[in-house]
Amino acid sequence: MEVKEIYCSTCKKKLGTYNVKYFSNDRLNEIISYNHTRCMREGHSVIILRP
Ligand SMILES: [Zn+2]
Repeated sequence: MEVKEIYCSTCKKKLGTYNVKYFSNDRLNEIISYNHTRCMREGHSVIILRP
């Protein structure tokens, strides 16, 4: 299956892996802002990777 990863390059940590079939980039950006608020608040660079 094809996946995308949410990755915080400041923490150097993978925050989650998502099937591209079910998660659009818009959806992933929502997930980032709801689930990874600590990284967002601290101004980390959270990116979406296509491994
Ligand atoms: Zn972070």
